[in-house]
Amino acid sequence: MPKNQPTDPSQGRAKRVEREDTGMVASGTTANERLVLIVEDERDLADLLEYNLQSNGYRTLTARTGADGLSKARTHGPDLVLLDLMLPEVPGTEVAKQIRADKAIGRTPIIMLTAKSDEVDQVVGLAVGADDYVTKPFSMKVLLARIEAVFRRSHQDGHESERVLRLGGVALDLETHEATLEGETIPFTLTEFRLLSALIDADGKVLSRNKLMNHAMGPGVTVTERTIDVHITSIRRKMGRWGQQIKTVRGVGYRAVHELTPA
Ligand code: CA
Repeated sequence: MPKNQPTDPSQGRAKRVEREDTGMVASGTTANERLVLIVEDERDLADLLEYNLQSNGYRTLTARTGADGLSKARTHGPDLVLLDLMLPEVPGTEVAKQIRADKAIGRTPIIMLTAKSDEVDQVVGLAVGADDYVTKPFSMKVLLARIEAVFRRSHQDGHESERVLRLGGVALDLETHEATLEGETIPFTLTEFRLLSALIDADGKVLSRNKLMNHAMGPGVTVTERTIDVHITSIRRKMGRWGQQIKTVRGVGYRAVHELTPA
C-alpha cells in the first residue's frame, strides 16, 4: 500500500462521500486510474471494497441496488464492475445480462460477488457473461489479484470476446494461452489447448480426427487417430463437468456443443 494513502478506513469513506456529493468520478491522480463500479447492498462490504480499491490506485463508484448499478454503469462507463449476486430490486444476474446486452458498455469486465460457495451460483455467474467470480467471504488480496487478471486479459484491444473462446465455464485466452475452468487455471498442454480451441471455434460443427490433427500439430506432423482420442479424453477430464460438452461423433470425429448439459 502506498504511504500517502489513508491507513484509516474512515478516511477512505470520507473520500467516497466527497465524490458522491459532486456526482463526479474524476479527481483521480493519474489518467491511468481505472474506474471500478461496486454494486453491493451490504454497506460494510461496499465500504471495505472502496477503501481497498482506492488504496490500490483505483477510482470507485458505488451502487446499492441493481437498478442503480445499471444506471451508473450506463452513465459512467466503468472499466470494471464488481457485481453482487443477491441485490434488491434487480438481481446481479439480470444486471450482468443487461450490461452485456448494452452496445455501449457490453464489453465491460464483470466480476460477480457470490454469497454462497454453491457451485450453481458460480456457474450462473459465468453463464450470464461475468468474467470471473469470488465467493464471500473473500480476501481482498484474492479479489485484487482477480481484478488485475481480468484487466490483463482485456488489456490488449478491449475486444475480449474475439480473443477468448468459451465453452460453458471453460475459457481459453488465445493470446496468453491461459485456460480457466470457472476462474481456476486448467493445466492444458499446448496440444490440448489447440485441440479445444479448434473444437470451440468450429461452433458446433464436427471436426474429423484428421482436421484436429492439423490444428493441433500443424501440417507435416503425423500422429495416429488414436492419439487424438487420448488427448480428447484428457481434455474432457480437465474440463470437469463441462467435459461432456465435447461430443464424440462415431466414425467421424468430435464436436463441441454450447448448450448447457444438466450435470
Ligand atoms: Ca447482497
